[in-house]
Amino acid sequence: MANQEQRMHQLSEIGAYLEGHFELTTGRHSNQFFMLARLTERPWLLRDWAKALAEGLDRVGRISQVVGPAMGGIIPGYAVAEHLKGVRMIFAEKASDGTMALRRGFRVEPGEPVVVVEDAVTTGGSVSKVINVIEASGGRVLAVGTLVDRTGGHAPWPIPLVSVVSVAVPSWQPSECPLCEAKLPLVRPKA
Ligand SMILES: [Zn+2]
Repeated sequence: MANQEQRMHQLSEIGAYLEGHFELTTGRHSNQFFMLARLTERPWLLRDWAKALAEGLDRVGRISQVVGPAMGGIIPGYAVAEHLKGVRMIFAEKASDGTMALRRGFRVEPGEPVVVVEDAVTTGGSVSKVINVIEASGGRVLAVGTLVDRTGGHAPWPIPLVSVVSVAVPSWQPSECPLCEAKLPLVRPKA
């Protein structure tokens, strides 16, 4: 199995890990950016990442469903569930009031053990919304799984965060950004 350095090298090669001067969705600036759509567009590479994540999540306990936040969690969640026998995969979508909702007949039953899978976790905002909707249904969230953990050990939940790679990504308020200070051009990679 690949180590963290090999995996970061792989992400870099396919443009899923960028170094430069970036504006994050939070408005903060960083010198690193993960664009994991560049990984999920390659099923033959994603399979190995998903297998590693599935093995980590399998150790947490018996799971009956994987729940992913749309869009980022759908493909990795599906790929992870493929490695977990009999485990279903559903996704939660943004509702008009800014929360997450289960639509399309997707359900989590009271007491059902589930994990939430997201492509990358930074502040955990969308994952927290998915945890809320699962807990409102009476489901039990055993763990959160992510391809890339960028929380630097500061995930906002009391449950395990299982990841394939874990990277502390520095970020700054624009007014305190050393890259702005150095007048490097700012990039919005997802635009
Ligand atoms: Zn900046």
